[in-house]
Amino acid sequence: MRLAEIVKWTWRSAGTRWTLLVVLVMVLALPLWGLRPYGKHFDHDSAGTWGDWVTGIGQLAAVITAVVTVLRTERLSRMQVKTAVGAWMAVFQDNAQPYWAVQFENATRLPLFQWTADSADGAVHLCHLHHGLLIPGKTTYELTIDRPCDQSLASPLVLRFVDFDGRTWERDSLGRLAPVKTPVACRMPSTSVKESSDVE
Ligand SMILES: [Zn+2]
Repeated sequence: MRLAEIVKWTWRSAGTRWTLLVVLVMVLALPLWGLRPYGKHFDHDSAGTWGDWVTGIGQLAAVITAVVTVLRTERLSRMQVKTAVGAWMAVFQDNAQPYWAVQFENATRLPLFQWTADSADGAVHLCHLHHGLLIPGKTTYELTIDRPCDQSLASPLVLRFVDFDGRTWERDSLGRLAPVKTPVACRMPSTSVKESSDVE
């Protein structure tokens, strides 16, 4: 009963779960190395030579390396899932009439509650205070800016957002992602006029 509780508690987090699995594998593998920890006394004759121990330590190192690799991959893929968000300026057409818009791609499968998108020259500003949460999928906001509708004139945007673990990220004007300490702050006014539903 107590062992079951310990196992249940250990299973909650990825770190302790993998530690438990490693310990379990090690204990089960001990007889293969000639050690019997389950018996009444430790058998020194079958404990093996230095060579056996070196081999054993090598195997253990391989297991630990594999576990660390799995943990790192798990962490990286979780980070990629919760930060799969981007924003860019694009020219759209409405009845052959071109207009500027900011398009968002939120591939996190969950809405973002705090976010800002700005151009370095201050010409573009959108944020959660003006537009609400950023829903999953593509969202397009039409822009009111005095600029010829030519894609080559699009300003790169800096996107800041708080992920669902409460961490703040910034995707800079080159699309690079980095965690930031600065809060997601709004500065008035918004340069967007309306949200258009995505038809693509
Ligand atoms: Zn704002």
